[in-house]
Amino acid sequence: MPGHLHSLLCVGLFCLSLCRAEYTHPRLPRALKPLSYNLKIVSHLHGPKKFTFEGEVHIQMVTRFETDNVTLHAGNITIHESQNKLIALDGNDTAFELDGTGEVPELQYYMLFLTAKLVPDVVYELRLAFSGDIIEGGDGYYWNKYQDRENDTRYLTATQFQPTLARDVFPCFDEPQLKANFTITLGHDKAYHSLSNMPVKQITPHPELHKYVWTEFQESVPMPTYLVAFSVNDFDHTTTVKSDSGFEFRSWARHDRNSTTLRAMVYGNVIGFKVLQILEKLFGINYALPKMDQMAVPNYAGAMEHWGLVTYQESRIFSTAETTVSERHAIAEMVAHEMAHQWFGNLVTAKWWSDVWLNEGFASYIGCYALQELMPAHEPCEHTIVASLNTIFSTDANNNSRSFARSVMDGEEISATFDEFSYGKGGIVLRMLHHFLGTDTFKAGMRDYLQRFAYGNAGRKDLWAAFTRVAEENKNLPDNFSVATIMNTWTRQPGYPLINVTRNYNDGTANVTQQRFLQDQQEDTRQDCWWIPLSFTTSKRLDFMDTVPRHWFQCPSESDSVKDTNTDSDVLNIPLQISDKQWAIFNLRISGLYKVNYDRHNWELIVDTLNSEHYNKIHALNRGQLLDDSLNLAWVGYIGYDVALPLVKYLRRELEYSPWLMAMSNLQKLTHIMRRTVHYPSFRGLAQLITTPIYKHLGGLKDKKGLMLKQKMLKTQLVAWACANRVDRCIKDAIDLFLRWRSVNDPEKHNPIPLDMRSTVYCTAIAEGDEINWYFLWRRYSSPTDHHSRGMLLSALACTQRPWVALKFLDFIMRPNGVMPDEDVSAAVEAMTNQDVGFHIAKAYLMERFAGKLPKSRKTIINFTHLLIAVTRNIHTKSEAQSLAILIRNHMPEIQSEELVYKLRQAVSSMVGNVKWRARNAKKAASVLRKVMRLQEAEEGIRVDKYGG
Ligand SMILES: [Zn+2]
Repeated sequence: MPGHLHSLLCVGLFCLSLCRAEYTHPRLPRALKPLSYNLKIVSHLHGPKKFTFEGEVHIQMVTRFETDNVTLHAGNITIHESQNKLIALDGNDTAFELDGTGEVPELQYYMLFLTAKLVPDVVYELRLAFSGDIIEGGDGYYWNKYQDRENDTRYLTATQFQPTLARDVFPCFDEPQLKANFTITLGHDKAYHSLSNMPVKQITPHPELHKYVWTEFQESVPMPTYLVAFSVNDFDHTTTVKSDSGFEFRSWARHDRNSTTLRAMVYGNVIGFKVLQILEKLFGINYALPKMDQMAVPNYAGAMEHWGLVTYQESRIFSTAETTVSERHAIAEMVAHEMAHQWFGNLVTAKWWSDVWLNEGFASYIGCYALQELMPAHEPCEHTIVASLNTIFSTDANNNSRSFARSVMDGEEISATFDEFSYGKGGIVLRMLHHFLGTDTFKAGMRDYLQRFAYGNAGRKDLWAAFTRVAEENKNLPDNFSVATIMNTWTRQPGYPLINVTRNYNDGTANVTQQRFLQDQQEDTRQDCWWIPLSFTTSKRLDFMDTVPRHWFQCPSESDSVKDTNTDSDVLNIPLQISDKQWAIFNLRISGLYKVNYDRHNWELIVDTLNSEHYNKIHALNRGQLLDDSLNLAWVGYIGYDVALPLVKYLRRELEYSPWLMAMSNLQKLTHIMRRTVHYPSFRGLAQLITTPIYKHLGGLKDKKGLMLKQKMLKTQLVAWACANRVDRCIKDAIDLFLRWRSVNDPEKHNPIPLDMRSTVYCTAIAEGDEINWYFLWRRYSSPTDHHSRGMLLSALACTQRPWVALKFLDFIMRPNGVMPDEDVSAAVEAMTNQDVGFHIAKAYLMERFAGKLPKSRKTIINFTHLLIAVTRNIHTKSEAQSLAILIRNHMPEIQSEELVYKLRQAVSSMVGNVKWRARNAKKAASVLRKVMRLQEAEEGIRVDKYGG
């Protein structure tokens, strides 16, 4: 960022009018710093001014250096310029003379020009009056409606400003580092009440507007504009609870005479209240505001951490008797995430949007940490971490992946930073930091950072400095190591490393090298390097708990200060002190974001142990890592399937969550390809061999008592994989269960299928059962039920194997005037292309319907792109890839959303990988599979030839 933004305007006399319009830097000039906003907004939900607002704002600001203009943001609002006023708060309240205004529409700047200069260190007050529309939907200042039990329509308004929509509601300095105190006063019909970040100070009648009141809120602590929140509604709230530290907590939901909505908020309410208190203890800093309101908003997408008024998508926060175990866990995760933001994001705010990952990464990791404290017996964090590792290991190995701490300026670039990398990878690299510093230092570093920057802003440098300070004090890092140097290699470049461990069996050491791990290694020409914390154990030590690194892989340094390393070459030599009959395993409990390859002998030693009764001497997380690493390394050709598949075979003993979760996504990728080859029966043989024991252990499709949370979550996913591979009685049981449901009197009310099994049972019954099943489910979808089951029903309907039904269904999903939410469209086409018939139907549909130019309708283009992405991901043959490439090339320019273009590029990358894999490996893998299965049969003395040739 160039430093002299203030010198933007006129230097000469003649260029006054020209120069005025020329401030085109995407960041505001730094001459003025806002101190406080006094914001009054009247909202109209009824009458002639329906869905409009008008307001005024008094902004007190201090001059940092001389300026002859005030430049701030104003977006989609009308400013009533005749009321513009600037006053010097110099004791006399002298009004300043204004000399016209200007705009820079593309940057949404509003400029007031002055006849004289503002002097440094004086406080001025800018008064502006404005008005605008309340928008239908979920962005900016929006309105929504809902039907109550009497079928009356009721209205509400709420705000969602992150990242840059506050300017669409009131003129403001709309950048995250320009924090100020807000005093908000809302005018509205007295039939409603209103909520904001702070508690209500007083309610008074509106002097001019009949039946209106003014609700004035207490002044806030300093906060950025994107956290400002308010809502006018007629919601009900849960009983207010008060913490020992003094804050009040309650949750709000739309009015319902029978309080069904409030009951649905209870789970999120309990989690939120408890997590907030756990975090107070963890950080040693009390929650900063006197109250916290959580609000469930109908027809709103996502969740937002507004300070003191967290908003949630109603369907994602409501927990009812119909909520599955996974959905309930997702609620806990989401609420804990938003509570963690009250410190990371709200109390200390990232200076700029390029460090969004600081807010999001911490909220994700610390949210999960707090849940672990709340329900330790269930190990809720393990699920979050393994799921996140699974995603990041896969997406970040894509040649198109991007670094999450990258420079961004405005508009879509800012929105695009809220991606899976900021949330998922952000959390994972912070977990790595936690592991290599140890818990005490990690906690002390967070406290130091939060205390030092409370109510202010910070960047990643400040964070790393805090951790370096504490690590030096506690002697957690070798001398001269800096957390910044280490972490920059993880945050500022895309991807993650693979380390190659080659043992020297003569002298008991190992040589370690690093490289970026990519799904398509050939394309990589960069010289990436990571500072890698190396932890390891051996079959002699068997200590998987000590994750403090015994060695560091260092990168060549830019300065000489960090040069005194134990190696200055690309190879690190590490003494292992074991014999050639003992194995070594690196990256304990996957504490680091890296994959590990070994020489063949070490792999074989590991495979032997896993396939013995002593398999659980290796920690479950590392068993998961070995599965994920070996399958990925075999995928790109670094090791053979003659190592990876015998390793996979050990899963027949495996009953733990993490290894199965890591294994399933990799095996599913193989299934999709193998299913369309002649080799599938051998593959299915292995799938059945390894899955049957755990499937039975978890009780198949029936409810089983006494399962832990993570076992229940594993079961949900495992049954889908089991039925897809025709394990045990999975398909028969699924169809039986479905038929029982079909035969009950009132299927809307009575469903005998266990809640967590429904998505698998539905899909299996649709794919394998008769056509009546499809129409039965279609009727359920067409009648109004809650959102949870609607998405599930839609994805299940896509499982049909009947071409004519698939085509009819696809037509329905793709309707240009359809009102189906984008995420449902995406899930349904995804489900469809995962099916054999569905894939071919969807591909033909794409090629036929979209051969020419796309219609202009936004919805058509979005639906088309979702379908294109889903089909592309499932292409495995060269000829299919070629015809699709033409379609993609022709339509790429028509896809407006950068996000969707990015996803499409990722899908293309997967397609290229799939095509290459199938050509190179399908036969080889099949031959190994047959060998593995024959050996197994010989062991068990069963018939040999059932998997064919
Ligand atoms: Zn967040």
